[in-house]
Amino acid sequence: MEYDVVIVGAGPAGLSAAIRLKQLAAEQDFELSVCVLEKGAEVGAHILSGAVIDPIGLDALLPDWREDETCPVKTEVKADHFMVLGPSGSIRLPNIMMPPLMNNHGNYIASLGNVAKWLAEKAEALGVEIYPGFAAAEVLYNDDGSVKGVATGDMGIGKNGEPKDGYMPGMELHGKYTFFAEGVRGSLSKHLINNFKLDADSEPQKFGIGIKEVWEIDPAKHKKGLVQHSFGWPLDMSTGGGSFLYHFDDNLVAVGFVVHLNYSNPYLSPFDEFQRFKTHPSIRPTFEGGKRLSYGARAITEGGYQSVPKLTFPGGVLVGCSAGFVNVPRIKGSHNAMATGMMAAEAAFEAVRDGRANDELAAYQTAYEGSHVKKDLKRVRNVKPLWSRFGTLIGVGLGGIDMWMNNLGIGLPFTLKHKKTDAASLKPAAKCKPIDYPKPDGVISFDKLSSVFLSSTNHEEDQPAHLTLKDPSIPIETNLPTWAEPAQRFCPAGVYEVVTNDDGTNPRFQINAQNCVHCKTCDIKDPSQNINWVVPEGGGGPIYVNM
Ligand SMILES: Cc1cc2nc3c(=O)[nH]c(=O)nc-3n(C[C@H](O)[C@H](O)[C@H](O)COP(=O)(O)OP(=O)(O)OC[C@H]3O[C@@H](n4cnc5c(N)ncnc54)[C@H](O)[C@@H]3O)c2cc1C
Ligand code: SF4
Repeated sequence: MEYDVVIVGAGPAGLSAAIRLKQLAAEQDFELSVCVLEKGAEVGAHILSGAVIDPIGLDALLPDWREDETCPVKTEVKADHFMVLGPSGSIRLPNIMMPPLMNNHGNYIASLGNVAKWLAEKAEALGVEIYPGFAAAEVLYNDDGSVKGVATGDMGIGKNGEPKDGYMPGMELHGKYTFFAEGVRGSLSKHLINNFKLDADSEPQKFGIGIKEVWEIDPAKHKKGLVQHSFGWPLDMSTGGGSFLYHFDDNLVAVGFVVHLNYSNPYLSPFDEFQRFKTHPSIRPTFEGGKRLSYGARAITEGGYQSVPKLTFPGGVLVGCSAGFVNVPRIKGSHNAMATGMMAAEAAFEAVRDGRANDELAAYQTAYEGSHVKKDLKRVRNVKPLWSRFGTLIGVGLGGIDMWMNNLGIGLPFTLKHKKTDAASLKPAAKCKPIDYPKPDGVISFDKLSSVFLSSTNHEEDQPAHLTLKDPSIPIETNLPTWAEPAQRFCPAGVYEVVTNDDGTNPRFQINAQNCVHCKTCDIKDPSQNINWVVPEGGGGPIYVNM
C-alpha cells in the first residue's frame, strides 16, 4: 500500500503528526495520504502515562480543545504537593522552595490513553487512515539505503514457524516518508538508531520503569485536581526514583512509582518497591476503602537533552519518545511528543508538496534545534546526572539549585554526561544484599499475577516468541551466577522465572511471554543485553483502560 506518509505508533507523537499533516493539506488544498499503524488492539490500549499534561501541545494542535465536550482533558491542577518520605514519616516541601518550572498550575490531569483515543477521532475526521491491531515488524529499505516504509508482521504463524488456520501474511506499507512514533525503546527505532548511527554524537539513552495503578477511592477522600509527588522511601538514597499520585475525574486516583533503571542492586524489584510505597502511613489512607481498577507498566525515557539522537535519516524521522523528549524532573513528555510530531509533519508536508520523496527531512532537525522542546530539556539537563552521581539526598538538592540558577539564567555552564547505559549499571549479586519485601496484603498491596490480570493482557499463545534471546544459555550460565538473574525481578509482569527441580537443582529459564505488558524494561536492563523485544502479533498485549 502506497502513502505519502506512514506513521508507526498511535500515541501523542504519531497522532499529532497525522493531524498536523492533514490540517496543512486542508489549508493548502493539497491531496495527501497518511496512515497510522498501532500494535494495540485499539488506540490507547498500550499507552501508559501519569498524566499531568502541559497543554502547550494541545494548544498548538487543536486550540479549541477546552470548548470540546468530547475532550477527555478536564481536571485542572488545583494543588501541587511535594513530599519527602522516610520509613515512617513524611515532610512536605514548601512550594516556594520548588523551582518555578516544577509548578503544575495551568496543567491538567488526564488519562493519556484516553487523550490518544480522542486524537485518533480527530485524525480520522480529517481523513487519516488508522489501523489498530497492526504491528510494524520490519523496516523496508530502498536500494539506495533510504527507508521505503514498513512491513506488518504475519498473523497466524505458530510457535514452530509454520502457518496455521487463518494465516494472513503481513502487508508492506510504502511511504514517501515514514515516521517512527513508537514511544520509549521502540523496537524499529532501536534498529534505525543502530543502522544509521543516529546516537553517534549523543550520550547513551537513560530510562526509568514506571508502574501504575488506577484506583476508585472513597469520595470523601477525593481531592480533584491534587497532584502529589514524592521521593525517598522505600528506595535507598543511592537509587533514583519517586512516586506520583494524581486525583482526577470522578473519584479516580492515578498512583505510580518510577524507579530509575540505573539502579545497581540486582535484587531490587521495582514492582515490589511500588507495592511497598502504597503501605506508607502517609499514602495508605488514600486507598483504604477504595478499589483498584487497573494496573500496568511502561519504561520512560530519562536521558533528556544530551541523549537525544539525530532525528532524521533518508526516508524517515524519529518523533516523540522514540527519540526521548521527557523532561525528567517534571515527569512530562507528552507535550514534547506532540510538538516534535507537529514539527516533523510540517517538514514532511513541505517536502511532499515540493515533489520530494525518501530523502532526509533536514527541516525537522533544524526546527528541533531552535524549538521550545530543546529549551525545555536544556534547562534540566544536569538534574538526572547529578542525581545519579550524588544520590537522592545531595543529588536532588544540587539538581534543584541548578534548576533555580537556570531559571535566573546562570545555571551550570556545562552539560554533565550520563556515561554508562542502564544495562551496565548492575553490581554483581555477591556484592549486594538481597531485599526482603513484605508479602502483599491483598488490600493495598498485591502480587504480580493478580496485577497483570487487571491489565487485560492477552497474547495468542501459539506464535513465535516475541521475547527473543540472542543466546539461550546466557540467563542460566551467566546472568544467574553473576546477577542472580535479575529479569525475575525487574519484569513487572512475572514473565521471567528461573524454575528448578524440587530439590533446587537443574535451573531453567522460563519465559511466560503471554503476560508481557510491553513495558520494554527487559530490552533495556538485561545486563548481558541478550533479550531483544520484537513485536508480537498485532493486537496482543495489554488493553489498558483509563491509563
Ligand atoms: C509512568 C509514566 C508516567 C508519565 N507521566 C507523564 C506525565 O504525567 N505527563 C507527561 O506529559 N508525560 C508523562 N510520561 C511520559 C509520556 O507518557 C510520554 O512522553 C508519551 O507517552 C510519549 O508519547 P509517544 O507518542 O512518543 O509514545 P507513546 O505514548 O508510548 O505511544 C507510542 C504508541 O506506538 C505504539 N507502537 C510502538 N511500537 C509499535 C510498532 N512497532 N507498531 C505499531 N505500533 C507501535 C504503541 O503501542 C503506542 O500506542 C510518563 C511516562 C510514564 C511511563
Ligand atoms: S517481558 Fe519485558 S517488556 Fe514484557 S513486561 Fe516483562 S520486562 Fe516488560
